[in-house]
Amino acid sequence: MSLNEAPRSVRVHLALFGKRNTGKSSVINAITGQETAIVSEVKGTTTDPVFKSMELLPIGPCVIIDTAGIDDVGALGQLRINKTLEVLDKTDVALLIVDIKAGISDDDRFVMTKFKEKKKPIIVVLNKLDTFENEDHEKIVTSLQEELNTLVVAISALKGRGIKELKDAIISVIPEDQDKFKILGDLINPGDFVVLVTPIDKAAPKGRLILPQQQTIRDVLESDAMAIVTKEYELRETLSNLVKKPKLVITDSQVFLKVAADTPKDILMTSFSILFARQKGDLTEFVKGAKAIETLKDGDKVLIAEGCTHHRQSDDIGSVKIPRWIRQRTGKQIEFEFSAGSSFTDDVKKYALIVHCGACMMNRTGMLNKVKSAKCHHVPIVNYGILIAYVQGLLPRALEPFPLAKMTLEEDLL
Ligand code: SF4
Repeated sequence: MSLNEAPRSVRVHLALFGKRNTGKSSVINAITGQETAIVSEVKGTTTDPVFKSMELLPIGPCVIIDTAGIDDVGALGQLRINKTLEVLDKTDVALLIVDIKAGISDDDRFVMTKFKEKKKPIIVVLNKLDTFENEDHEKIVTSLQEELNTLVVAISALKGRGIKELKDAIISVIPEDQDKFKILGDLINPGDFVVLVTPIDKAAPKGRLILPQQQTIRDVLESDAMAIVTKEYELRETLSNLVKKPKLVITDSQVFLKVAADTPKDILMTSFSILFARQKGDLTEFVKGAKAIETLKDGDKVLIAEGCTHHRQSDDIGSVKIPRWIRQRTGKQIEFEFSAGSSFTDDVKKYALIVHCGACMMNRTGMLNKVKSAKCHHVPIVNYGILIAYVQGLLPRALEPFPLAKMTLEEDLL
């Protein structure tokens, strides 16, 4: 990703579904105005889902997801269909591409049921309008709209017809909260100072700040506030040199204890990880998850889940530090299992607790689906930052900017 690009996690995720040969790849080319997908007359050219980040006028930064045909055949075909359906968890807007001449099939109806179960906004795109010149397509659009109770747009990807209408339809169904969940924009006012504490140790990437730090600075600037970035060893001096009290001190979780000690009690303090737990997931659920540590028993299984595979350091937080902190806190014989990627393991209910990473590479929809899956199976879930703050006894202070979550921590919910 170049530093000029919006990270994938904050982009609207548009996924295209449909039977083979309905022209999904041509629709992508038509709405993006580029040859981004492979267009072929041979059925089933797209196999695994393909993710492509782009700026789409007038929609803005988005990720287009091209999926395999929902009518794929054979054992391998079924695997591809399963992968296609997994994409739904990350989708903000689903486009179901249908050949207008062939009409809606049972496969289309099946996938629409899945969209509706997941409460995803859907647009049915009737493609290949150019092959249907002599028919009254508007009548078909209206009657399908009534029958399916969803938006229907007729287009010709090949001739570029109906593409503006399709983009307008996409904009009209983009979930409102796509913009609403700021990182900290709702906690600060124009003119406020925010101090960001970012350790530059051997774990920090060379020559740049990590994504959550970059995104937080951007959010501060968008709020017309000021960001002061410092390392943990300079925090005391930074604070004493400020003529005005900062509205908030935000720290990397790894130096929480030092930052808490060096930040006067009358200044609000939290961590990047807690800000992202709120923006990406469900802060209240994560707080309940942190409290669930106290109920762990000998032999319980804990899943450490990460949103992507990444290079592990020798004292890696997920595979080394978190298991150590949980064992120390509980004094129990806990069994740890690990997963990485956009979905959990198939058997969520065997775990007594799930501890998830900060999810910086995931979008809110993807993370909320993981939280939902854990909740459905009554498995508590917490993220790294909240767990670290909890085991270090700093969670009450780190939740002060978020009164509801703090109340959850203080309530005897378990
Ligand atoms: S926080 Fe999670 S999603 Fe982000 S880089 Fe680490 S493992 Fe990947």
